[in-house]
Amino acid sequence: MKSDYTATIGLEVHVQLKTKSKMFCGCAVAYGAEPNVHTCPTCLGLPGALPVMNLEALKLTALTGLMLKCQIAPVCKFDRKNYYYPDMPKNYQISQYDLPICERGEVPLYDLAYPKDAQKSIANPGKRVRLIRIHLEEDVAKSFHFESSTGIDFNRAGTPLMEIVSQPDIELPEEAFAYLTSLKQALIYGGVSDADMEKGQLRCDVNVSVRKRTDAAYGAKIELKNLNSISGVRRALAFEINRQIEALERGETLRQETRRWDDDLGETTLMRTKESAHDYRYFPDPDLLPVRTEVFLDEVRSRLPETPWEKRERLEKDYGLSAYDAGVLADDRPLSAYFEAAARGSARPKSVANYVMNDLLSALGAAGQTVEECPVRPEDLKALVTLVDEGRINSKQGKDVFSEMFSTGVDPQTIVRRKGLQQESDLGAIEALCREVIAANPKVVEDYRGGKSVSINFLKGQVMKLSKGKANPALVGETLQRLLS
Ligand code: ZN
Ligand code: MN
Repeated sequence: MKSDYTATIGLEVHVQLKTKSKMFCGCAVAYGAEPNVHTCPTCLGLPGALPVMNLEALKLTALTGLMLKCQIAPVCKFDRKNYYYPDMPKNYQISQYDLPICERGEVPLYDLAYPKDAQKSIANPGKRVRLIRIHLEEDVAKSFHFESSTGIDFNRAGTPLMEIVSQPDIELPEEAFAYLTSLKQALIYGGVSDADMEKGQLRCDVNVSVRKRTDAAYGAKIELKNLNSISGVRRALAFEINRQIEALERGETLRQETRRWDDDLGETTLMRTKESAHDYRYFPDPDLLPVRTEVFLDEVRSRLPETPWEKRERLEKDYGLSAYDAGVLADDRPLSAYFEAAARGSARPKSVANYVMNDLLSALGAAGQTVEECPVRPEDLKALVTLVDEGRINSKQGKDVFSEMFSTGVDPQTIVRRKGLQQESDLGAIEALCREVIAANPKVVEDYRGGKSVSINFLKGQVMKLSKGKANPALVGETLQRLLS
């Protein structure tokens, strides 16, 4: 971005809630079913059908609000948002207007949530994006356009949809990426949604304007539609910010409008201008009573999980991990649970983390297994780290024992015993090996004594080789230095 310009970005995110049934009827919420099998008079919008609220959807929305530090309204209500659309036969959507269930709140952005290539140059570390509100509404049906006709599938009509609206606190495409990554993780942690963008479980609209830093007034707000992935949001914003700056530089005036993002072409195109904006004529739904949230809030509070950011902080504090390691582990909830089961009570939690993040993850990847299917029990991993830590086997042997543990599920003590892998820490035996290597390599010894100190590494390698990898490397180094001085 040209440095004399700044962008103002706000996001509206729609999230499909993980409930068994729809928002105002008993029809099942099921992805990928035959078209129009999960329907009834209520979600088809037939005359006379009455809505009944889904309590679990209210609870999941309140749970999201508590995780994101929102204020939960004592009373919320549902309103009709009137508009005509072929996939919405009632001609209104039940939503929440002036009394949403949650207000304010925030989404913290953390380093690992940024795109990989941007993690080294984060403009605003530790940034928190404030929220305006979270409300609950119903989804519409889905249209399928064929060659000469359009089909409508009402399975999705009336499924619970949570809308999260941010303040325009975001300034960069990378921050929008981090916001969505962090939000998605919180939703998954709370069991609120699977938040799979490819399945449309998390859908995002973006507002973006640019202005000269010296200008007090915001620029024209431009809305972007059709964003299907988090990386697509980043690309669309980068394109759009650049397009707007170039237009302003040419002396053009930008108008408020809605544009469509084409991910293949990598550009936005005009959909409609402000003149065609809707007036939705909201009014309270006469079929639905206002909701007193205190009725279910205690139960929701008891379900409140540890948030990803609380977990990262705790892993750093309790196990002495780096922010990076804590971030990688907390990103994957089952993996962090495995780590904690192995690290609890270990003298070397940092080594446990290294095994989990390197050896375990690559072994699982190669075997195409999830951490839940892992053949290595957490307590066995802890035992392995202890064997290495106490010098009973060296770290190279530790790696080999780990692969054996992974392929057989056998505990490390048994493997060490069976393979006769005990590390050689007997000083006499090590000294004998060192003397043998020194005698066999007079030229290297001469180099070392002549000041080429790195030569000792070659000798060390020879001793390790002679011991078939069993010698304690630290003792070998000390002994060689002593004998050569
Ligand atoms: Zn229904
Ligand atoms: Mn909405």
